Amino acid sequence: MPSDTAGTQPALAALPLPEYDTLTQDQTRGATCVWDGTQLTGETAVDLGPRRDEDDVAWFPRACRPCAQRRAMDALILHSSVCEQCVDDHNRCPEGSTLVRAVREARR
Ligand SMILES: [Zn+2]
Ligand SMILES: [Zn+2]
Repeated sequence: MPSDTAGTQPALAALPLPEYDTLTQDQTRGATCVWDGTQLTGETAVDLGPRRDEDDVAWFPRACRPCAQRRAMDALILHSSVCEQCVDDHNRCPEGSTLVRAVREARR
């Protein structure tokens, strides 16, 4: 499996986000949480990694910590319920281990 992006961006960049079209301007510029619109500060914000909109323009979504934690955990539970590799050992599944890291990143 390619590991070219490992370490260069947060594991939280693997989390699915709401449709770009459905977000407010504050959400797309990282001023408020991409999921529930909570006002963010430098201390409360969690970076979700660089993303690309449909015009291939980079944007930098951020989330509040409770949302990031919940979404990372949801994604991990969802993935491990459908991934046979993760049932054996999630360390051998690139997606599974990325999501485990995402949960840890959201907790920091
Ligand atoms: Zn939130
Ligand atoms: Zn897996």
